[in-house]
Amino acid sequence: MSSPLPTSPSPVPTTADYPELDAWRGLPISQQPQWRDEAVYQSSISELSTLPPLVFAGEVDVLRERLAAAAQGKAFLLQGGDCAETFEAATADRISARVRTILQMAVVLTYGASLPVIKMGRMAGQFAKPRSSNDETRDGVTLPAYRGDMVNGFEFTDESRGHDASRLVKAYHTSASTLNLIRAFTQGGFADLRLVHHWNKGFMANPAHSRYESLAREIDRAMKFMEACGSDFEALKRVEFFASHEALLLDYERALTRIDSRTGTPYDTSGHFLWIGERTRDLEGAHVDFLSKVRNPIGVKLGPKTTGDDALRLIEKLDPNREPGRLTFITRMGAGAIREKLPQLVQKVTDSGAQVLWVCDPMHGNTVTSPNGYKTRNFDDVVDEVRGFFEVHNALGTFPGGLHIEMTGDDVAECLGGADPIDQDAFVSRYESVCDPRLNHMQSLEMAFLVAGALSKS
Ligand code: PEP
Ligand code: MN
Repeated sequence: MSSPLPTSPSPVPTTADYPELDAWRGLPISQQPQWRDEAVYQSSISELSTLPPLVFAGEVDVLRERLAAAAQGKAFLLQGGDCAETFEAATADRISARVRTILQMAVVLTYGASLPVIKMGRMAGQFAKPRSSNDETRDGVTLPAYRGDMVNGFEFTDESRGHDASRLVKAYHTSASTLNLIRAFTQGGFADLRLVHHWNKGFMANPAHSRYESLAREIDRAMKFMEACGSDFEALKRVEFFASHEALLLDYERALTRIDSRTGTPYDTSGHFLWIGERTRDLEGAHVDFLSKVRNPIGVKLGPKTTGDDALRLIEKLDPNREPGRLTFITRMGAGAIREKLPQLVQKVTDSGAQVLWVCDPMHGNTVTSPNGYKTRNFDDVVDEVRGFFEVHNALGTFPGGLHIEMTGDDVAECLGGADPIDQDAFVSRYESVCDPRLNHMQSLEMAFLVAGALSKS
């Protein structure tokens, strides 16, 4: 008897087999570019569709588990990085300073609050920005607003401000090289907890800096003690570090979506964690729809106008199965509003039985213009919003599960105040952000000490 002919393997599913991934195309969408050249746009999208994933589905699943622990009060999320990354600043020094600062903050939090800290960068993909105004006028000249290096250039010329779709591909490659460096730093020995002192080197002497030094000495002593007892430090040589950005340009996000061969489900492989911004969280809109179709953990920014019903509807749409770790609410109310606005949201969500991860973004509700004309934030307001966040959650018995900040490892002057106070005169020479003002290295460490103190009482 002849044996049956071998059957051909079933074809590997592609995103084309998942029409729901394109349902957003028929929905209202805001904050998208008007590309100058249609042919460049088409070829950029088709190139992105064939490039390798930037992150892997298995890593994304690990993150979902970590975030589920945070939602239950067993871990804390630290998410930080630039408001807008730029291609120019994707250098080894800048990336390493930012990673080091996040690692330092995480050590302060872990040691101070005895909780695992999930480390996540607003990095390796944070290249597109929503804008309140489509245009910018300088000295009587009006040009399209800067929308992030993925769309146009910051330079104020007609050429630079045009929306150029070849930048989508450049954003992919810059994200890839940034991630490559982050992976090397965090897996290759640089993040070894025994280098806890070393991360502080090269940063200016300041009050938070010396406070960190003494904490590092304590950690050192504890490590030496453990080593003398014969502990195995292999696990401390590496840290998990996740990449996140606002999923703003849906063409880019859709082009990087792949079907995971293990589970047959779609993952947006442009980053581990993606969030929906305050300006694009329309329940009937394209952004909420698209992100409801991918398996990544999703964040949503919630400003002071958010109602309890908005929050419940977002949960229904983005986390219908109430899956732990799937949904994070990043509140950004402003220091003046948080104590009044946050309780009703948290109460309503808690009463519904849903368990989301609550994260505080103390930056975006506290933006002001300095008398000398710079977009800035007062460190005191940022701190006050964080305190309000902890107060509200402590009063309601819910867990204040994370901090989302705009920060850098560099010694910039963009936010006012801090222990070694920045004043507006320093902006003239040390303001570098192309978008929102960031905490500098020292202000970031100071914030970490403050949050560690608040967390240890939660
Ligand atoms: C941001 O995170 O840079 C941002 C624009 O935030 P939001 O959507 O909360 O305004
Ligand atoms: Mn911002």
